[in-house]
Amino acid sequence: MSGDYGKIEEKLSLLKYKSDNSSHISIDITVCKACKSKGCTFLCPAAVYSLEDDTLKIEYENCLECGACKTACKAISWLYPAGGKGVVYKFS
Ligand code: SF4
Repeated sequence: MSGDYGKIEEKLSLLKYKSDNSSHISIDITVCKACKSKGCTFLCPAAVYSLEDDTLKIEYENCLECGACKTACKAISWLYPAGGKGVVYKFS
């Protein structure tokens, strides 16, 4: 294997995004605030979730639509972006 696409930055450069005007991800704030681990900030391969002054910030435009966060966290509600929006895998 040549390793041409080995790094995550190289893999992400193969993607295009068509941003929707509104987020396809929503959070139950009460459940989120009670969560100590904030696992979403570790598990998302696209770093969509981050903490800013103890508040969860969601950069939904970068979502890879892998579904990991909705499986891992009961505070997260996640739907696919509206038709034609979201990530486009150039070589799929
Ligand atoms: Fe991140 Fe995947 Fe959840 Fe999108 S679906 S926010 S890429 S974990």
